[in-house]
Amino acid sequence: MLKTISLGVIGGGQLGSLLCSAAKKLNVKTVVLSDDKEGPAQHFCDKFIYSKYDDNVKVREFISKVDIVTYEFENIPVDFLNLIQKEKKVLPSPKINKIAQNRKLEKTFVNELGINTTDWVYIRSAEDIKKNQHLLPGILKSNTLGYDGKGQFVLNSLDDIQKDWCFTKDYILEKKVDLKKEISVVIARYSDGTMSSYEPIENVHKNQILFKSKIPAKISDKIFKEAINNAKKIAESLSYTGVLTVEFFLTKNDRLLVNELAPRFHNSGHLTIEAFNISQFTAHVRAVCNLESKSIKKISNAEMYNILGHEILDYKKKIFKKNEFFYDYQKKEPREGRKMGHITILKD
Ligand code: ADP
Ligand code: MG
Repeated sequence: MLKTISLGVIGGGQLGSLLCSAAKKLNVKTVVLSDDKEGPAQHFCDKFIYSKYDDNVKVREFISKVDIVTYEFENIPVDFLNLIQKEKKVLPSPKINKIAQNRKLEKTFVNELGINTTDWVYIRSAEDIKKNQHLLPGILKSNTLGYDGKGQFVLNSLDDIQKDWCFTKDYILEKKVDLKKEISVVIARYSDGTMSSYEPIENVHKNQILFKSKIPAKISDKIFKEAINNAKKIAESLSYTGVLTVEFFLTKNDRLLVNELAPRFHNSGHLTIEAFNISQFTAHVRAVCNLESKSIKKISNAEMYNILGHEILDYKKKIFKKNEFFYDYQKKEPREGRKMGHITILKD
């Protein structure tokens, strides 16, 4: 009989939870390492270890209990991943974390593959911004550790530079894109090089937080193909194993630009749970655990809406139709702007 695989998952949020649920259906056991005691994945995994990255005893316990390690978010110290890698395989390979954690490295990497991004420059001081006024109106983004628009400042003109900014951190300044729309491509690559992609998903953000995702994306065939080809090129160049998400901007002039990479399943891919033969989570587990590759096929069109903060309270009382799939992440505190759940609606 085959030994049951034990998959280590770093991070205990909603993405980790959904990954654990998918693993369970594949008979893969999950051990979650979370630095958040309240991490909702504890309700979905086989074992939950609450630990900081520097708690040697707990980390050793985690390593001893797993065959392979993956993660639900990219901002994990690369040294920590490399430490684990000495004993157990970490997939996707930590070299992608180094790139995806750092906007400068990420954009450089993408540009070197011959793929366009918005114009950007690395910023260390207010003086650097003044020298690059051609990028205004622009968005100043902290070079590391941003998510859901955190660490971002819109600069319409030099007057928006605050006097008290002391640039102790580094930033990049990006030209503000005249957006027609945003799309994402979620792609799975297996270690034997097999790749299978979901179709591009159209995304609407509100206050820089994903509000809605839908398929089909209203884009031309040319953009459809270009987006998938770019995602494949990126995955291939990294000899990537697992699910990778590429976020794109489509400009008003129909130029496709890469916004950022996520070396993981993605909020915009939640609709894959119901709308495809296998979800992004199942695809990820299959790829990192080296299970047989499976090609991705659409079952239905769909829309997904994030449920933020206190909105969850109304949803909990609702009765849903047959084509509506509600997820409650079981987070304790419905803080403002916090992702509390989502709903996917299947469409004709
Ligand atoms: P995060 O890491 O927080 O997801 P992103 O760089 O993806 O950061 O930015 C979040 C959202 O802000 C994007 O999805 C987009 O809606 C908007 N945004 C970011 N950069 C730009 C830009 N250069 N031009 C126009 N809109 C942008
Ligand atoms: Mg983003």
